[in-house]
Amino acid sequence: MIVAMQENATEEQIDDVIEAMTEAGVGVHRTTGSSQTILAGVGPTASIDLAQFENMPGVEHVHRISSPYKLAGHGFRPEGTVVEFRNGVKVGGKEIVVMAGPCSIENREQIVETAKRIQQSGGKFLRGGAFKPRSSPYAFQGLGIPGLELMREAAEAHDLLVVSEVMEIAQIEPMLPLVDLFQVGARNMQNFNLLRELGKVRKPVLLKRGIAATIEELLLSSEYILSGGNYNVILCERGIRTYETATRNTMDIAAIPVVKKLSHLPIVGDPSHGTGRRDMVAPLAKAAVAAGADAILVEVHPNADKAASDAAQTLYPDQFDKLMHELRAIANAVGRTL
Ligand code: PEP
Ligand code: MN
Repeated sequence: MIVAMQENATEEQIDDVIEAMTEAGVGVHRTTGSSQTILAGVGPTASIDLAQFENMPGVEHVHRISSPYKLAGHGFRPEGTVVEFRNGVKVGGKEIVVMAGPCSIENREQIVETAKRIQQSGGKFLRGGAFKPRSSPYAFQGLGIPGLELMREAAEAHDLLVVSEVMEIAQIEPMLPLVDLFQVGARNMQNFNLLRELGKVRKPVLLKRGIAATIEELLLSSEYILSGGNYNVILCERGIRTYETATRNTMDIAAIPVVKKLSHLPIVGDPSHGTGRRDMVAPLAKAAVAAGADAILVEVHPNADKAASDAAQTLYPDQFDKLMHELRAIANAVGRTL
C-alpha cells in the first residue's frame, strides 16, 4: 500500500502514520521527495482497511499497489530516483553519466592508462572487473582485491568513481572501501542471498538484467535490495539471449523506456555486452541515450584486441573519445547533457 502525505504534513503526522502502519503489521519504507513524503507499506496488506489511514491528519491519499514490485514501482518515488555520488556525480538526473573501462583489470599500467583516457574524454566512472564470472573455469578469473586496489588508485588519481562486480557475499566487505558502486552481473541477477545482503549496505548497486530475465523479473530482483532499505539501485540493460546469432546478445532497447514507465529507478545501457561486437557498440550506445538511458557502460582498453576478456566488444580509447562526442549530440537532442 502507498500512503501519500500532503505537502504540508508535519513530521509528527508522518510518524503517527508510520506507527499506525507498523501496528497494522506492514513494513514501512519512507521516501521524501521535493514536495511530498510517500510511505510504502509492504507485507500482508490485503486484509487492511485503507479507510483508517485515509482519515488520518496529513494524509493526502491511500491506495493499494497492484504491481508485484512494491518499492521499485513508479508510485514509490514519482519524481524518479537520482543516485548521488562523490564529486557531484548523479545518475538519474539530467546529465548522462558514462562508465567505462576494461572488462577485467589486468595490471597497473593498463588500468592507469585507461583511467587517463576515460577522464580526458569525459567519463565519470572507471569500470573494471576484479572478480570475473567466466563461462569457462580455465579462462582468466580476474585479479581479485589486489586488482581492485590498483583500480581505486588509478581512479583517484584521475578523479573518477569506481564500479566493479561483486560475485558473492564474502566479497562485499573487502570491496566496500574500494568501490563507489557495486555491480551485480547478469549471471547473479537472481542470486537472492547476494541481493539481500546488498540491501543492507549503504552503497549504490548497479543491477544488470539476466540473460534470460524479463523486465518484471529484473524489477523483482531490485526489490530484494530496496526492501533491505538500500534505495540506491540502478538497473542495467545489457542484452538478452534470443534466437539471433549476428550479435552476442540482443540489446533490448525497448526495455529502457519500459523501465522508465514502470519504475523510478535509473537505467543504464550496456552496448558492449549488449552486442558483443566493437563495431556495434557506438550505434547501440547512441540508441540507448536516445531511448532515455541515464547512463552508458562501455568496455574500453588501451590495447583492446589483446584484452584478457571480452576483447571483441572492447573499444580503443580513440573510438571511445569519438563516441563521447557523438553521445553529447544525442544527449542534447533529447534534452539531456553529457
Ligand atoms: C561485465 O560487465 O564485464 C560483465 C561480466 O557483465 P554481464 O554480467 O552483463 O555479462
Ligand atoms: Mn565484460
